[in-house]
Amino acid sequence: MLFRELAEYYDRLEAVSSRLKMIDIMTELLKGAQKDEVANIIYMTQGVLAPPFEGVEFGVAEKMMEEAIAVATGYSKEDAYRDYKRQGDMGLTAQSLCGASKLKRMNAKKNMVNEVYRIMLSVAKTSGAGSKEAKIRMLANLLASGTPLEAKYMARYPMGQLRLGLGDSTILEALSKAGAGDRGFKAELERAYNLCSDLGLLGERLFDGGPKAIEGFRITLFKPIRPALAERLPTAEGILERMRGRCAVEQKYDGFRCQVHKDGGKVKLYSRRLEETTGMFPDIIRAVKDEVRADKIIFEGEALAFNEATNEFFPFQETIQRKRKHGIEQKVEEMPLHLFAFDMMYLDGEDYISKPYEKRREALEHVLRGSKLILPSTMIITSSPKEFEKFFTDSVADGLEGIVAKDLAAPYVAGARKFSWIKMKRSYRGELSDTLDLVIVGYFLGRGSRAEFQFGGLLCAVYNSTKDVFETISKIGTGFTEAQMKEFRQMLDKIKVKSKPPRVDAVMEPDFWVYPKYVVTVKADEITKSPTHTCGKERAPDGAEVGYALRFPRIVGEGTVRSDKSAEEATTTNEVIELFKQQKKVGVED
Ligand code: ATP
Repeated sequence: MLFRELAEYYDRLEAVSSRLKMIDIMTELLKGAQKDEVANIIYMTQGVLAPPFEGVEFGVAEKMMEEAIAVATGYSKEDAYRDYKRQGDMGLTAQSLCGASKLKRMNAKKNMVNEVYRIMLSVAKTSGAGSKEAKIRMLANLLASGTPLEAKYMARYPMGQLRLGLGDSTILEALSKAGAGDRGFKAELERAYNLCSDLGLLGERLFDGGPKAIEGFRITLFKPIRPALAERLPTAEGILERMRGRCAVEQKYDGFRCQVHKDGGKVKLYSRRLEETTGMFPDIIRAVKDEVRADKIIFEGEALAFNEATNEFFPFQETIQRKRKHGIEQKVEEMPLHLFAFDMMYLDGEDYISKPYEKRREALEHVLRGSKLILPSTMIITSSPKEFEKFFTDSVADGLEGIVAKDLAAPYVAGARKFSWIKMKRSYRGELSDTLDLVIVGYFLGRGSRAEFQFGGLLCAVYNSTKDVFETISKIGTGFTEAQMKEFRQMLDKIKVKSKPPRVDAVMEPDFWVYPKYVVTVKADEITKSPTHTCGKERAPDGAEVGYALRFPRIVGEGTVRSDKSAEEATTTNEVIELFKQQKKVGVED
């Protein structure tokens, strides 16, 4: 496929906001691709070069792209900078300057998709001394070889500004239609995706070996499994009832989630967001090699920093210091980590994911017998609400976050938030004191004293995973520090878009829309019903549409945004509905 054709598809995708239309365009695009182009097209459409665990970053700053555009078009760097300031979109700047350029397109040629991908990959992989100049040269050559429309996407892609609005679920549906004839194969593709977290690889397998290749897809070492997630409930009775009277209750540790893959002497770690974190935790790698009695294994746990002097765990705010790229060994000395293993997905050639919790746990305890740094999570199995409650209060008294209850008969539910795991945190008592993770979809300009910062608040949304859209739930207008206002403004300016982004469902209009990317942790007093928001909206008896909203929302948590969650990992609409129901129940009991 020519890159020009791909750019035309992207232009069509950009112009539509209906998910069904996006799926149709994406299906057509995939059908037009060659077998050996499918994976690259999928990565490009996601705006990445590879799945997250490969850690391939473009490393192209705005200034570099402005310079590349200048070199490609004969304009000055200042011209490129001014045009970018005016249009706020590097793609449009590249498109207009390339269109207006008087330079003869010296190396004009018919760029193939794979060729452009290959050059982009070289740009990303070029590092070290002189790499800035080399990257600019490669990008400039590429821009000069394409049409203005190609240049638009050649500039947006490395800047992380593609923003086509296609979520995983949309791509999976298009793959099903293009590779298996209809959407009926999506569930099978999803199963395989949950096992490898690599949509490009799936696309390639499907186009190469047909549906059979996907049906035969199994867990692969060093391809991280998409993590199982927990639902939440506020009471021991409620959880036991949901679990048919008896369940396991594990302590909930607040540290870093680690998915460990081991094949003989080779060990790698992956984070909750499936990024590789091997280099950050050499002490865990050593402990896995020394203590885990299995040749090939995939298991999961939470890593916490341990204070040897006081014999206590450090709180999360301290533990987070272990997440760093430099001075690692020194921090290992100061804050050694312990890993609390809580699940196992694969052992010596055998898939454990579909086995019931009890079997997985038994095998996990067996491979960890006698270990010191990697310990099975503390756990009880109970059918008594009293015992459950005591375990919970004791855990909280020990400084832990709460508990996670596990369904004894359930498999490991990769990539989904299901009631096979239910968390109960110390903050759930009574009113809505649990936090929500919301996606920013827009922002408001400041008025009065805020005008100075040109920041007046955020429009935030939850993720509706059934419809694959973001539904607004709250305008957050208070509680920001000056530093936060400045930071939000700077961050959000970079991702603002001219009109409502695809997949955002909103009634309220912010001053600026932003591409759904950043997640913030929000606390509120209560969930209420409101016509101004679209979260879980339903038609009320009087015909008006009513959704859910937050009363007295404010930002909490470390830093400004949550870097460990992507937009699709925000709190879901269903969770909000569930929390609303729980809130009512607690109210009645009181
Ligand atoms: P939270 O902010 O509450 O950790 P989350 O969205 O990151 O929420 P959930 O799936 O809702 O994740 O809650 C489970 C999380 O708790 C896991 O991601 C894991 O990192 C952590 N955890 C700590 N101890 C356990 C345990 N014993 N079993 C399962 N998960 C645990």
